[in-house]
Amino acid sequence: MNQFPNIPDPSQKRVAIRVAPEAERALRGGHPWLFASAIRRLSHEGQPGDLAVIFDRKGRFLAVGLYDPHSPIRVRILQHDRPAPINEEWFAGRLVAAQQRRASLPPSTTGYRLVHGENDSLPGLVLDRYENSFVLKLYTPAWVRHLKPLLAAFIAEIGGERIILRLSRQVQTETGALFGLHDGALLYGSSPQGSLRFVENGLQFETDPIHGQKTGFFLDQRENRARVERLASGASVLNVFSYTGGFSLYAARGGATHVTSLDISLPALDVAKRHFEINDHIPAVAAARHEMLRGDAFALLERLAKQGRAYDLVVLDPPAFARRQDEVAGALIAYGRLARLGLRVLRKGGTLVAASCSSRVSANEFFRVVYEAAAAEKRPLQEIERTGHPIDHPVTFKEGAYLKCLFAKG
Ligand code: SAH
Repeated sequence: MNQFPNIPDPSQKRVAIRVAPEAERALRGGHPWLFASAIRRLSHEGQPGDLAVIFDRKGRFLAVGLYDPHSPIRVRILQHDRPAPINEEWFAGRLVAAQQRRASLPPSTTGYRLVHGENDSLPGLVLDRYENSFVLKLYTPAWVRHLKPLLAAFIAEIGGERIILRLSRQVQTETGALFGLHDGALLYGSSPQGSLRFVENGLQFETDPIHGQKTGFFLDQRENRARVERLASGASVLNVFSYTGGFSLYAARGGATHVTSLDISLPALDVAKRHFEINDHIPAVAAARHEMLRGDAFALLERLAKQGRAYDLVVLDPPAFARRQDEVAGALIAYGRLARLGLRVLRKGGTLVAASCSSRVSANEFFRVVYEAAAAEKRPLQEIERTGHPIDHPVTFKEGAYLKCLFAKG
């Protein structure tokens, strides 16, 4: 396996752990995390990527996972209930299962998430597919020592032209220096020539997997974008936090007459413009007028409201407002304020689409705040639907649910 010269050999080291009774119950129930606070006995301090073998009070096997001495999530579970060697064959099984879970995606969608971390039993790891290119993002340094067998399994089972590595900020600081692996490194295959191209529900998109946000595209909003397309006929649409114009393009194809993409990022808006150009063979896209507004969403919404602007459909899809528990209260206030501002630029009887991707904010709390904002604005909402996760972003444990979206007439 010297096809990956920069990648260290797999860790064969193990730490043994005994856990507190609550953690025992959670692990028996299939929970994918063991927190440091639940560890009762540890054989010795391990290195990132050592395999942690977890036992109950009576010394019975509970789970095996990846040890990360610097994270409060001390172990990310790979396998519950019975021991298994964590090797190429084991990874192949997980990759094949992940692929089967997504088998119903249509050929008109070549950009989707192939592995969604914990929810596909590969915790702390995301693998996104953009046609024949793949972007592998690691959220824990523990993965670095298991990349070789994972990549070998990937090449055997999935293939593709290339894999690009992305590292979360924490992984960059911890492993970059250690192994010479860096954010944006090519793990396998040929370097991409510029952006990666893919289609989503037949629309063409381009993404920069190295400089773009997340792995380059917000694949999780695909179905909500398709819903907006169905609601957009004849509408003027304001897409707030548009990024590279995903919702905007769907609205245009759905027959929106005017579409405004609003974002703080100029590079993102430049790509949104390009997305309209590369889809202008679609008559409805060519016919829609696309405008771009660059700046802070809150300030711009206030300005648009003052100018008396009103749209038939308003999409609010902000970045996560709460990344930590102590940010939740502030996030709820921000979601409420955003919904109020969104309603002020929504024509009476128009459609409000309000999304949240903060896992710390529950769906119920989020929907409550939007309804309270509507009441405060004296714009009672008539609900169309509430949506959650698409099939390529499955949810298998409570903390894994992050995406929620409300569609309502306001
Ligand atoms: N709806 C998009 C994804 C949105 S991601 C899609 O379907 O692809 C969130 C976006 O909000 C990012 O593009 C980011 O640049 C932008 N953003 C972050 N803070 C902002 C702010 N204060 N005002 C406007 N845009 C902001």
